[in-house]
Amino acid sequence: MSLLGIFGGTFDPIHYGHLRTAFELRLALGMNELRFVPAGDPPHRSAPLADASVRFRMVEAAIADQPGFVADDRELHRAGPSYTLTTLLEFRQEFPREPICLVVGMDAFLGLPEWHRWREILPLAHLVVAHRPGWSAPTEGILGRLLQEHRARAPVELKQSSGGRIYVHPVTQLEISSTELRELVAAGRDPRYLVPDVVRDTIRNTGCYTGPKAR
Ligand code: ATP
Repeated sequence: MSLLGIFGGTFDPIHYGHLRTAFELRLALGMNELRFVPAGDPPHRSAPLADASVRFRMVEAAIADQPGFVADDRELHRAGPSYTLTTLLEFRQEFPREPICLVVGMDAFLGLPEWHRWREILPLAHLVVAHRPGWSAPTEGILGRLLQEHRARAPVELKQSSGGRIYVHPVTQLEISSTELRELVAAGRDPRYLVPDVVRDTIRNTGCYTGPKAR
């Protein structure tokens, strides 16, 4: 059974931390496809600075030459907050039996209990948690227990059911964050080598992090 990966995020902007994580996880898990799904209106944070269409264009351009990477704009066409649950329900309808892996960074995983109807997420998909610099897997509390109960020890276990397991995988640690990138650009510095050149060009051409909203 092939694995379908879903990588959600604000991607304001997409950077090499996201891209390298996705690349390593797709290879390590043997995902035949990994969908990048930018959030239209992310529910747990302030509104993105760059317009949804610009963020989507940056994602598309950044992954254009990577086989198996697909940009998916479904959350941008949906009114209201971009809940992951809604997205997973849609994917489940399209792919009723295929194992689906929702890729999240460790920081995002630690915030899982604040997600909209979060207990309904795991039955719909596996969670694949990428280690991020400075974050370690919880051993106590609600997430510690969840991890104990559902943890998969090897990627092959993810192919045995359509969802319900949690797999924690280390990835090359690139301490890059979109927040710092936006601040760096707003301060007039160059994001070169933190983002692909096509993303850097879009940032420069649209002025999305230097306009009035960025101040
Ligand atoms: P911001 O600084 O605006 O919060 P971000 O850099 O964390 O943005 P998001 O678009 O919010 O990026 O993140 C999408 C997903 O990518 C999340 O699951 C997050 O944990 C993960 N992620 C973000 N940056 C990295 C990184 N440097 N390495 C690995 N995973 C990352």
